[in-house]
Amino acid sequence: MKTLLAFSLFLSLGSHAGEPVGYYSNGSLKDSHSIDDYKYHGVVKLYRSRGQNFGTSEIMQALSGLAEFMKKRFPTIEKTQIGDIAAADGGRIPRHASHQNGLDADVVYYRVNELSQSPEYPEWAEDFVLKGKLTTNFHLERNWEAMKYLIHNHNVGRIFVDSAIKKGLCDFAKMKGEQDSESEVLRRLRREDKVHMHHFHLRLKCPAGSPDCIEQVEPPEGHGCNF
Ligand SMILES: [Zn+2]
Repeated sequence: MKTLLAFSLFLSLGSHAGEPVGYYSNGSLKDSHSIDDYKYHGVVKLYRSRGQNFGTSEIMQALSGLAEFMKKRFPTIEKTQIGDIAAADGGRIPRHASHQNGLDADVVYYRVNELSQSPEYPEWAEDFVLKGKLTTNFHLERNWEAMKYLIHNHNVGRIFVDSAIKKGLCDFAKMKGEQDSESEVLRRLRREDKVHMHHFHLRLKCPAGSPDCIEQVEPPEGHGCNF
């Protein structure tokens, strides 16, 4: 009897992977994980008091993996700053149409000056696009490496960025001779203006074994760098 109880406890713990239900803009989240369960010193959560600190294990692994990768690659880099993820049970939250099923998260772009904003500051502290152009504090190489890491290592559907940022990363990739070899990375950087001047929006695909998660259609083929 004791063994059976222990076994079922093990099973129920083992199955808590955070279960996305429905679509990104019309969904919910079961058995969510808190970002606090993924303690890594290179991550800082902004806007904690909003309560949107939850998601699937897959989004948490992507965020903590990104922070760890960036810190190893660029030891003096600022912490990876995470904005809203999802509410504990998912569903509609202020400021966002999506972020409902635990597969979306906002991340501040990496800066040239390696500074972080105060976690107490209630809004995004810095725009990296002014009058349609990238500012000099947007770190092209580091943000490009971040995109490559995420798309090569996690189940990324799309990463939403401002058009000026997509153009900047397209030009940087071309300069490095990577526009064709990293075409799949560029393809998943989707242009969405007015809201992604300070942060990018990471969106994962439905994880395997999540039958109630509704998948978004794949983005069109090609790098999309023809401006
Ligand atoms: Zn977002």
